[in-house]
Amino acid sequence: MNQQDYIALEDQYGAHNYHPLPVVLSRGQGAKVWDTEGKEYFDFLSAYSAVNQGHGHPKIVSAMVEQAQTLALTSRAFYNDKLGVYEKFVCEYFGFDKVLPMNTGAEAVETALKLCRKWAYEKKGLPENQAQIIVCENNFHGRTTTIISFSNDETARKNFGPYTDGFLRIPYDDLEALKAALESNPNVAGFLVEPIQGEAGVYVPSDGYLKGAKALCEQHGVLFIADEVQTGISRTGRRLAVDHEDVKPDILILGKAISGGVYPISAVLANDEIMNVIKPGQHGSTFGGNPVAAAVAVAALTVAQEEKLAERAEELGQKFRAAISEYIEGSKIAKLVRGKGLLNAVVINDHEESETAWNICLRMADKGLLAKPTHGNIIRFAPPLVISEEDLMKGVKIITDTLQEFEDEAERVSMAEVNHPDHVEQI
Ligand SMILES: *Cc1c(COP(=O)(O)O)cnc(C)c1O
Repeated sequence: MNQQDYIALEDQYGAHNYHPLPVVLSRGQGAKVWDTEGKEYFDFLSAYSAVNQGHGHPKIVSAMVEQAQTLALTSRAFYNDKLGVYEKFVCEYFGFDKVLPMNTGAEAVETALKLCRKWAYEKKGLPENQAQIIVCENNFHGRTTTIISFSNDETARKNFGPYTDGFLRIPYDDLEALKAALESNPNVAGFLVEPIQGEAGVYVPSDGYLKGAKALCEQHGVLFIADEVQTGISRTGRRLAVDHEDVKPDILILGKAISGGVYPISAVLANDEIMNVIKPGQHGSTFGGNPVAAAVAVAALTVAQEEKLAERAEELGQKFRAAISEYIEGSKIAKLVRGKGLLNAVVINDHEESETAWNICLRMADKGLLAKPTHGNIIRFAPPLVISEEDLMKGVKIITDTLQEFEDEAERVSMAEVNHPDHVEQI
């Protein structure tokens, strides 16, 4: 079968809930992936930051294979010899008393919301069914019915109602708005926030925002819930993005790279005061905390630490932004680059609905670099953190060469408009 055949199969038999770039991948190693025809690409998406440790990391893969061959699934009806070991490891790694293991990011967010509500009724004493959780505009926390209920992305939300109640939405990166919401609503239980808004387009809040938000939450007896599904596990140049401001969340949500991308694993961490409100039978998942997940997560977190991935992300991220910024100074097509560590985005100088960012991604794929627009005119660049500096700079060259081609083409079109205003379409 050729690439078109594989694409046709997905098109015919798969629900059309994604719009992929027309690239069919069949192999990955480190920061690189190969398509079915053997063409090599730098992966600058890393499966939305799930593959921070790189494709096919031998330590993570062998932990998975070994455990799959030994014991894959017991369900939580019984104990197993891997879960407790992982639980201790992950709690010590992030400094919490307890963890609740789930599988996907959205499930972990759901878990955190349920935990927050239950805590609010049983510990804070809110009247039953009155708890409110504050969320931010342009949030992305996953795709379940409750989560899309508090999204303001119409594509994610429209015609999926009726929606779940109990959420207040405020602008992101706005401490005054948070303060006002906390002061005017006595039934607030928690504040759910992404330390950097990834899907929205890598929006980095002002310095001090997270620290200020945590302080406001403390002042009002409200739980600060950090969704680090995308920003966690070394991606932004720290173990967690909240570490940039030395903020300790009351509830920490992890997913994606906690498995190194080989297996769906997510986790919710909190201290006993909060986590102990959950009793047997009140929450769970058949696959949550299975032995394979436990073994894989220990390996993936160990790799992040051993290979100093946070330090690498910090250093390489600065080089990436410096190189791209230098190009952008003289650019008409790219407006700015922003991000932390190796979670970065370039904003294309065009309106939100334009095809320019998509077309740039197609051209970059031709040249051997994979990235995707997040929202309209924003392209996210998030290579695996194991990428070498040399490969990162090769990637930068592909990005800037592509942008330059688009600048030149736009220039030619506008020259043509001047010379032959009625015949632009012939160029
Ligand atoms: C990807 C993501 C999720 C959802 O994770 P899934 O595994 O896709 O359910 C939640 N929160 C954030 C911040 C994410 O980036």
